[in-house]
Amino acid sequence: MTKHYELIAIGAGSGGLSVAERAAEYGKRCAIIEGDALGGTCVNRGCVPKKIMWNGAHIAHALDDAPAYGFTIERNGFDWRTLIKARDTYVHNVNSWYTAYLAEKKIDVITGWGKFVSNKELEVAGETYTADHVVISTGGRPVVPDIPGAEYGITSDDFFLLKEQPKKVAIIGAGYIAVELAGVLKSLGSDVTLVLRRDRLLARFDSMLSASLYEVMSAEGIKFLSNCSLAEIKKKEDGELVLIEAKGATSDTFDTVIWAAGREPVTDNLNLHATDIKYLENGEIPSDEYENTNVQGVYALGDITGKAALTPVAIAAGRRLADRLFNGQSDRKVDYSCIPTVVFTHPPIGTVGLSEEAARQQYADRVKVYTSSFTPMAHSFTQRQHQTRMKLVTVGEEEKLVGCHMIGDSVDEMLQGFAVAVRMGARKRDLDDTIAIHPTSAEELVTMR
Ligand code: NDP
Repeated sequence: MTKHYELIAIGAGSGGLSVAERAAEYGKRCAIIEGDALGGTCVNRGCVPKKIMWNGAHIAHALDDAPAYGFTIERNGFDWRTLIKARDTYVHNVNSWYTAYLAEKKIDVITGWGKFVSNKELEVAGETYTADHVVISTGGRPVVPDIPGAEYGITSDDFFLLKEQPKKVAIIGAGYIAVELAGVLKSLGSDVTLVLRRDRLLARFDSMLSASLYEVMSAEGIKFLSNCSLAEIKKKEDGELVLIEAKGATSDTFDTVIWAAGREPVTDNLNLHATDIKYLENGEIPSDEYENTNVQGVYALGDITGKAALTPVAIAAGRRLADRLFNGQSDRKVDYSCIPTVVFTHPPIGTVGLSEEAARQQYADRVKVYTSSFTPMAHSFTQRQHQTRMKLVTVGEEEKLVGCHMIGDSVDEMLQGFAVAVRMGARKRDLDDTIAIHPTSAEELVTMR
């Protein structure tokens, strides 16, 4: 027998959960189809377990700094398994919380993998389901390039299954995941090499951030294999892995190689060819600014759309979609033009709006930039003396703030408020007129000249 809902979300990640939750709050009968743990990438293999690892790495740094503050510290090593166990328990608790929460909201969880039968008809484990509104929010998975020996590398998903800490690791990529995992592993004691196909980290970010991160990582002892066109991964008899470049050069050996070369949408098992839903060759399902696909009543949101692959973006898109469909807020949509984001490196990066390069391309000589570089007080007499760097990008005579970029301790917590200011169209003058909070690093943002 076919079961009918007002809304079905395929995928219980950030997007699917948020649209169903909001729709249920409006009294709609909803279901979520999921074949894996509730919470999607963010909860199970992304933001949440990553942040716990980052916190652990942060503590390692605090221990390094403690003697400068008079503490006598005896380091007796670090137990990877203890951290992993605590992390996994935390994640498991979040999964269980979701199960109870969805039951409380009367949202049905249909366990299994959903396949389209037609535009608004789905089959899961032999049962058929229909809905007035179908939301595709199946997320992404790591890309593993097709080269010989690629299977010897693990992905970021596998990273969260590692029972032992890698001793010597190569991480392939220069994006969010590569730099975050590199920072965590190095801080916790692994020997880390980042393998870049070019020579720049975080290529789409403001160049000040890319250059500063490279400088900090080098100072921390992370090694770089730049401009590396990787042709093969070879496994030696002793199990060690070697990277072979296109020109034949061979790398040092590693016990672990991690692919962090981007993510791709998960659409291949949805049986989309049984529908009229348009999808691209790379698997992305295009959706407009209101998350509509080309088929009325079918929506795509989150990583599957190829827009900004960030949890809060998927959550915002899901909530606004439900507001629009079921609460009469017909203009409610995400503003994709101004998305704040933090990269959890050591120290972290916070960025919102246009990079200086992008602003100059768009506004040429109407751009004026303010920068600040300083040693944060907390580190003025510790061994780790990395500079905090900040940049404000402004446009026009009124110096409208169009970008704010920072790398340094605590910028992860600083950015949110400044993102509000950028979004509201603040001018440099508005920052100047704000009284500084002293002594903080954040005060630099309102005292730049
Ligand atoms: P990114 O898009 O950030 O980076 C992909 C990287 O892979 C790039 O540096 C790219 O190099 C490199 N690359 C691609 N193909 C190859 C190849 N064949 N060989 C070597 N390198 C290659 O993807 P991630 O996988 O790091 O992260 C996916 C998304 O997840 C991010 O875009 C982000 O939206 C999200 N995320 C967000 C986090 C956060 O909010 N803190 C944390 C983690 C992920 P090149 O620079 O040369 O193009």
